Amino acid sequence: MLAYIGIGSNLGNKRGNIHRAVKALGADPGNRRVRCSPLYATEPVGKKDQDWFVNGVISLETSLSPRELLELLLGIEKKMGRVRGEKWGPRTIDLDILFYEDQILKEPDLQVPHPRLQERKFVLLPLRDLAPDWVHPALGKTVSRLLAELDTQEWVIPLDEGNEKPCTV
Ligand code: ADP
Ligand code: MG
Repeated sequence: MLAYIGIGSNLGNKRGNIHRAVKALGADPGNRRVRCSPLYATEPVGKKDQDWFVNGVISLETSLSPRELLELLLGIEKKMGRVRGEKWGPRTIDLDILFYEDQILKEPDLQVPHPRLQERKFVLLPLRDLAPDWVHPALGKTVSRLLAELDTQEWVIPLDEGNEKPCTV
């Protein structure tokens, strides 16, 4: 199964945290072909009085179910010392399932596609780098189109221009 994961960090060595999480994803026997988008420096959304983020998107082939994948992501967040504080507050690492094939899940603790991905430039830009023509299974629009239709002002600045392999594992 093909899945897309959103990744972000705004505490400590942000790029290092992202690399560590990508490695941990690749180390799970259920996952293969882990690829990472170029990374972006992004302005915090929602809660403004915190440091900027580094964000990217990961694609992977997985034999894990959506729930098993979520458990893996939460385990990696925990191992990397993420302390859940205020909503949208600073975090060492945040890992979100964006898409899992074309499945639609609406469980209390697991919504796929991620319910806010279409509102977030910091998700759609790196997602477009990996999968411009991927169709959102509920909205019926490609990633490129969702990005073109997004009307937000926040800063999302490429960190990896000219670098073809920003985070291979
Ligand atoms: P956010 O990423 O929205 O800032 P958190 O990372 O603190 O918030 O929230 C994590 C919780 O969100 C998880 O415990 C998980 O149960 C729930 N959740 C629901 N849908 C998803 C998803 N698609 N990917 C990751 N977590 C999800
Ligand atoms: Mg999260």
